Amino acid sequence: MQYGFLIDHTRCIGCHACTVACKSENDVPVGDFRTWVKYTEKGKFPDIRRHFAVLRCNHCSNAPCVTICPVNALEKRADGIVDIDRDACIGCRACMQACPYDAIYLNEDHGAVEKCHFCAHRVEKGLEPACAVVCPENAIIAGDLHDPQSTISQLIRANDTLVRRPEQRTGPNVHYLGVLPEALEPGVASKEEMFLWSDRPQRKPERWPVSLPVVENTRTVLDTEHKVQWGWGVAAYLVTKGIAAGVAMLAPVVGLFEVQGFAANYLPEILALVFIAITGFLLVEDLYKPFAFIRLFSRPNWRSWLVKGAWVINIFVAVISASLLLRVLGAEAAADALRWAGAVAGIAVAGYTAFLFAQCEGRDLWQSKLLLPHLIVQALLAGAVCLMPFDPVHNGLLIVAVVAAVVHAALALAERFKHHATANARQGAAFLSVIRIGPFLPFRESLLVGVGLTVLSIFVLPELAWVPALTGLLVYEYAFIRAGQLPPLS
Ligand code: SF4
Repeated sequence: MQYGFLIDHTRCIGCHACTVACKSENDVPVGDFRTWVKYTEKGKFPDIRRHFAVLRCNHCSNAPCVTICPVNALEKRADGIVDIDRDACIGCRACMQACPYDAIYLNEDHGAVEKCHFCAHRVEKGLEPACAVVCPENAIIAGDLHDPQSTISQLIRANDTLVRRPEQRTGPNVHYLGVLPEALEPGVASKEEMFLWSDRPQRKPERWPVSLPVVENTRTVLDTEHKVQWGWGVAAYLVTKGIAAGVAMLAPVVGLFEVQGFAANYLPEILALVFIAITGFLLVEDLYKPFAFIRLFSRPNWRSWLVKGAWVINIFVAVISASLLLRVLGAEAAADALRWAGAVAGIAVAGYTAFLFAQCEGRDLWQSKLLLPHLIVQALLAGAVCLMPFDPVHNGLLIVAVVAAVVHAALALAERFKHHATANARQGAAFLSVIRIGPFLPFRESLLVGVGLTVLSIFVLPELAWVPALTGLLVYEYAFIRAGQLPPLS
């Protein structure tokens, strides 16, 4: 069984009755939507027409939100509905990054995500979803797509229908009849500064990058706003995790670099443990229900890289702590041997985020194949500059830092200028250059500032290189995180 919708846009009159009925039925907060009507105008005066598109969760057959949810709060039910257990949700918002249709919102009153659940409470009683009941034109047809005799199946068989963004291969179960294709394709219509029938869209600090192609004479004139969910907290987590991973990766060879005594024997492990602790704090603090982080371990979804990543970090902490303990107990040879295991764990800590971001299927920029090597190079750079003040000769660690800084700069520029396969990734790459750093700074060229500071670190005193290097990395991470979330998904 697979419940689905057919939205017949040859009938839809754009009255928003479905939106209002959904809000009333499901107690949806002001400013959030489980379903909404997007208006797109096409043509040139006087030959112009307004088109509607009713947008909502697609109850995907292959739902990326279900895959990424670390605590199994999202589930694909036996009847095909993708439902959310609000009480289980920990507020990590990973599902909002994974959904390629912006179908999920965060209910800040409950600290949990919500979305269309096909009015499951009504369907279970044999009733139709509220939107289908209220539509005055019978434009919303709900039913079982697996039943060939159902009205919805017969209509889909008899007509050419479209689904949103089929290239995402999520298997959407909301079909559209008679819709303007551009209305389903995010970012191809120009977006007005102000909407006629609603509040103007929230002003974002970034301008829409002018280089992006749009379809001529096609304008979005009404749509909903979607907030950017991940920001400085996630950027800082990437940097602190990089420092911890980097010093662990360099620990087995630090003795070769003339580092002596306490700095050679204990400092890498101490730095790794301190920065991985800060990383854990940042991860937990970013949750809307911080104390619910324990559910990562009590009700884990083993397909989610948030859960796998948590265990990678746990193993890292165990190996690094064991190495430190062995050295304190005088077992130098065993401690040295364990440093190699710590280096491997460090590579895993640095790199697992690439797999987590790959599960964020709504953010095509983050799907980059360069991300895994890039994260490892960034970690090497962060680790090297943090150990450099303790290297009296400044040979080996300086060489590591210089090579890593140059490779990081090359990979960052490649992310910006290489050919990206999808429109969403191209839009994200274009945004990379225009992200504003904080509310007060006039800089818009965050890519340039981030990469520039990192490269500058090569030319300052080795004892102080960590200042521009880590600042540059933080700015770059922020730009990468934010740019991936700015291209529209509806
Ligand atoms: Fe709905 Fe988005 Fe999840 Fe698909 S990925 S089931 S559209 S919330």
